[in-house]
Amino acid sequence: MKLLGTLQRKHSFLLSLMLLSLVVSTPAFAAKLAIVIDDFGYRKKEDNQVLQLPTAVSIAILPDSPHGKEVATKAHAQGREILIHMPMAPISKQPLERDTLKPSMDQAEINRIIQHAINNVPYAVGMNNHMGSAMTSDRQAMDRVIKALNHSNLYFLDSVTIGNTQAAIAAKAAGVPSLRRHVFLDNVQTEAETRQQLARAIALARKNGSAIAIGHPHPSTVRALQQQLPLLPADIQLVAPSRLLKPQQEKPEQPKPPKVAPPTEQPQEPKPASWLKPAQEAIISMKKSTLINTLSRGFSTAEKKKTPTPNETGEVKE
Ligand SMILES: [Zn+2]
Repeated sequence: MKLLGTLQRKHSFLLSLMLLSLVVSTPAFAAKLAIVIDDFGYRKKEDNQVLQLPTAVSIAILPDSPHGKEVATKAHAQGREILIHMPMAPISKQPLERDTLKPSMDQAEINRIIQHAINNVPYAVGMNNHMGSAMTSDRQAMDRVIKALNHSNLYFLDSVTIGNTQAAIAAKAAGVPSLRRHVFLDNVQTEAETRQQLARAIALARKNGSAIAIGHPHPSTVRALQQQLPLLPADIQLVAPSRLLKPQQEKPEQPKPPKVAPPTEQPQEPKPASWLKPAQEAIISMKKSTLINTLSRGFSTAEKKKTPTPNETGEVKE
């Protein structure tokens, strides 16, 4: 009996190892990390260096920047995702871009500025805010921005420059696909800071399945990404932000022309019957818990001996 028990334990340990290797090596299980580099269109040298990074690194272009259109064309030819980096009013006094959205603006003016931005940043599939603590914390103002976006087929990525941002709430209310930034890569402009923040983004992606990091074309950020991105762990998949939109929210690369024949049925995606949902969730949670139980049985002792991967070693401060 004792021998049988030992054999069973060994068997379950081997099974756990097999399951873990599946989790690590199968792309379907990889945690997704999106990196967006803001403030594009002003610094030719650094912008071009960013365009040498993997094409999954996305860029956000300031609509009135001198090289915006040129850089959008280059990035699009590479298959890189492009966002409009929409200037929005901050609370603090700072030099502002031309056509910065302000809470005092009416719907017509916001529509005009956003249309101008769309014209100036070709191939954009999303928008995020440049600055914007005053604008994004104002629900009514953000309702007007989202309303202007509603006809454009763009998603909105909230840069989260203030804690009480209303951007995602306004987008959700209007049915505009939206995302939120989790990590800033370069609030302090040193390579060490960017390395550390990238490690934070990776940890968040592993914990939650995905994470969004935003950086800027500072020389220190570019250098840190040049060094670190080739070393990304195998369980981290670099993706464009649009890949993190929920399936029914996904936006096509290019706006599609309207269909000629009017649909006779509701144009909505077929949804599973509501009574099916609890059963589906139960199956999913059962699978998850079975996996977790098996893994935790096999690794209850092994986990304690786990050493950090080389990428974690240099970053974690004790
Ligand atoms: Zn910015």
